[in-house]
Amino acid sequence: MIVIPVYNMILLPEITFYFKKDFFENLKLNAMETGEDVLFLMLKEEKERTEMTAEDFYPVGVSGVVEKPDEEGNICIRVKERVNVSDIEVTEDAITATASIRVEVEDIAPEEEKERFTKLKETLLSFAQNYQWGIWARGYILHWKNAIEVVCALSNYLNLTDEEKYAILETDSKSERIELVEKAIYEFIEISEIGEEAENAQKESHEKVYREEALKKQIDFLQKKLDEMHPENVSDVRKFENKIKESGMNETARTEADKILNRMKQEGKDSHEYGMLYDYLDFVTSLSWKKEPAFEVDLREAEEILDEEHYGLKKVKKRIIEQMAVMALNKKQAGSILLFVGAPGTGKTSIGQSIAKALHREYIRVSLGGVRDEAEIRGHRRTYVGAMPGRIMEGMKRSGVSNPVMVLDEVDKLSKDYSGDPASALLEVLDPEQNNSFTDHYMNVPYDLSDVLFVCTANTTDTIPEPLLNRMEVIQFPGYTEQEKFEIAKRHLLPKAMKNMGIKARNLKVTDEAIHALINGYTMESGVRGLKKQLDTLCRFAAVKLVKGEQKSITVNPKKLPEYMDKKPIHHESILEEKKPGVVTGLAWTAAGGEILFIETVQTKGSGNIQITGQLGDVMKESAQIAVSLVKSLYPKETENWEKHDLHIHVPEGAVPKDGPSAGITLTTALASLVTGKAVSPEYAMTGEVSLRGGVMPIGGLPEKLMAAQRAGITKVLIPYENMDDLDDVADEVKEKLEIIPVKKVTEVLKLVLK
Ligand code: ADP
Repeated sequence: MIVIPVYNMILLPEITFYFKKDFFENLKLNAMETGEDVLFLMLKEEKERTEMTAEDFYPVGVSGVVEKPDEEGNICIRVKERVNVSDIEVTEDAITATASIRVEVEDIAPEEEKERFTKLKETLLSFAQNYQWGIWARGYILHWKNAIEVVCALSNYLNLTDEEKYAILETDSKSERIELVEKAIYEFIEISEIGEEAENAQKESHEKVYREEALKKQIDFLQKKLDEMHPENVSDVRKFENKIKESGMNETARTEADKILNRMKQEGKDSHEYGMLYDYLDFVTSLSWKKEPAFEVDLREAEEILDEEHYGLKKVKKRIIEQMAVMALNKKQAGSILLFVGAPGTGKTSIGQSIAKALHREYIRVSLGGVRDEAEIRGHRRTYVGAMPGRIMEGMKRSGVSNPVMVLDEVDKLSKDYSGDPASALLEVLDPEQNNSFTDHYMNVPYDLSDVLFVCTANTTDTIPEPLLNRMEVIQFPGYTEQEKFEIAKRHLLPKAMKNMGIKARNLKVTDEAIHALINGYTMESGVRGLKKQLDTLCRFAAVKLVKGEQKSITVNPKKLPEYMDKKPIHHESILEEKKPGVVTGLAWTAAGGEILFIETVQTKGSGNIQITGQLGDVMKESAQIAVSLVKSLYPKETENWEKHDLHIHVPEGAVPKDGPSAGITLTTALASLVTGKAVSPEYAMTGEVSLRGGVMPIGGLPEKLMAAQRAGITKVLIPYENMDDLDDVADEVKEKLEIIPVKKVTEVLKLVLK
């Protein structure tokens, strides 16, 4: 019999269907005669007619008969039986095979089949009515007489594989076939419905988003109109809404800010809390919440910047560059906390500014001098009237970035009282373990300070609490020599002062001698703050003269100085004019640097009392007692009748308390000079602590002390032997002008100076 290959369709007995004319033409089959018997065999996969072989067909097919063509010439076929096929032969002209009828197992009762079909039809009908095509599909569905017809008609639409379709054809049991058909159809309906549902759900959620967007736009529009009508209200709320959105705040901060914003909305402008809420939002939205990218530091450029802005300070600059290198290697924006210690005007704060410039970062200075209340560091809780953020966060706000270089000025001037310990709060700020979530009480949310490069300054480390000091790396600013001061004045201070006052270089010339005279006659300091002030005064005076037109160009030499300065040259403690037993020159370390001081002693008739006067009376008491005992043991004969005398010791200038003991050797020498009646030459000055056994022990602040001695015109200085290493820190200019004599014992000193 002739075989007609079909693909992807189910043909089952008792159905009639039409093939288009060209279907056969495409298959190069001869025209079909009415009444001719044919076989339909399913292809396992779609193939061109020329490529088909016997193996491409499934072994079970259906037989059919050609009926009369319809009006359009389409060929009508009625399927008769299922058949087993054998001897398939494929030639160029035709495909032929032998067929034998396959037995059908009638294992379903007609009533049951009918019932199940009715149900299937109803499901199909209700499924179809959801679709536009349902109207014409309805006619078909009502027309179908059994499930077989349905599956044949829908075979193209069902989600069945070729094997599944073939399984329907191959199954002999009628009830099994109906089951397969039902399964295929119900599955098809279900999948379509789920797909539909999902599609709808998606559509709905899109719609919701669109709706929301549209509503928001409307609200924005209405709000804008309202704002236009009441510009006075424009509205802080909206301003902050935007600011909060743009600020990049973390989750916690945002929640808090939103909370405050909501309160602001509810309370309105007339509420007494409005101002407080406004300030809070203004504060938190002015802070930077974004991490700044780390700038790649060019160490050479950094060195240049430091050198350009500050003269000298070699050691300090070296240490700063090291710190920058370590930060670059660690890829961190902060490193160890540097503490610059030195007298006022030695450049501590201003070099902090240069560090910021070298690192291309913002600079912010926070002064801690006189801070006693912990809240000044950590902020006040907002429940207080007039609550404010602490100085650190205030500084962060001013900087406007998250990684400024923050100079904490005067950390040695923090004090402690009943309102808490600011130093311990500062510890939290500086501790890299904790400062990534520093919580200011006012803000009430943590803020990350870990990218801030902190630099602290102090005049002395004495008053800094130990735990705080331990966190920091101390870098000493020893103070400037006269020559250094001269260079600083000439290169930096004078040009800056002139520029500030609009004086051109050709209009004012200050001779080198005049600068030296200013340094020596009008200032007495380790730093250059006073010098800066004097130069400013000089320039101001010159400015008046120039504007008045009294002179076109001015040259200031030492002789003219008194005319320009608004004060008389200050009186320096310079070396004693005459020597006198009981008076010895000592060296002291003050907050302003080094100074020389004269320790004076006298004996009067009395009853063995010792009286000490001067600012550091108490501190000196111990040193004086040791000195008295030492002198008694060294000069037993000379001190025999001390009980019948009173001793008066006077220490005129106040050193820092910690430096008190370093006057020990001077006190001892003064007393020894007093009892022996031998005067000490004014060219000598000395410093050193003494032990009861007569040893001379090391002291602090040697560079400043030697500088002061040299400034005052001393030529010979006695220092403790153990301080010899510190001489490395003393400028050569100072060492050249002094004879420095290291001593180990009090007796050595006395032998040397008592003549
Ligand atoms: P400190 O913080 O140590 O009290 P400052 O940094 O305020 O001192 O310095 C006071 C002034 O002296 C500033 O104008 C500063 O520029 C200037 N100054 C200090 N040291 C130097 C220096 N080595 N070179 C140039 N200017 C300096």
